[in-house]
Amino acid sequence: MKIKLEKILNLDDGEYRFHFETAARDIGLGLTDYEGHEVFDRPVVTDVVLNKTSHIYYVKLYAASDARFLCDRCLEDARHTITGEFQVAYTDLKSNREVYDSESEVRLIEIHKANEITLDKDVCDTLMLEIPTKVLCKEDCKGLCVQCGANLNEALCEHAVMQMNANN
Ligand SMILES: [Zn+2]
Ligand SMILES: [Zn+2]
Repeated sequence: MKIKLEKILNLDDGEYRFHFETAARDIGLGLTDYEGHEVFDRPVVTDVVLNKTSHIYYVKLYAASDARFLCDRCLEDARHTITGEFQVAYTDLKSNREVYDSESEVRLIEIHKANEITLDKDVCDTLMLEIPTKVLCKEDCKGLCVQCGANLNEALCEHAVMQMNANN
């Protein structure tokens, strides 16, 4: 996920949009669950709005990916769309950086060293921050029987039936 500098350095001031679709592992998002399955097993879609104003490039990125988690209660697949936003600014003028860096992070593009802006790490970090701590396959997941391990969403085991009768 890269924006070539040659593409943007000579642009007129204004707003430009970029769209990327990348495999999660290609941007370092190779997270796995305890069974070893990839959590981000579908493409990461990123839309970038770049605003250029007198050698400052404001980058706003919107990232989204459909991820596969395991339900906290029943351990079955629980898919969730993870979305996140991130903003950062770049400049190719050192003097600009000193002026703006006090307000928000402004990264210096060293034209003699780099020929592109790489978004991979920002997209990866943005999505990682949005991973929920608790994931359920559905709001009212009944979970597993603590005695026999049966998935109570599928059928009631004898323990669940006994429990229900005891409650009535
Ligand atoms: Zn569940
Ligand atoms: Zn049971």
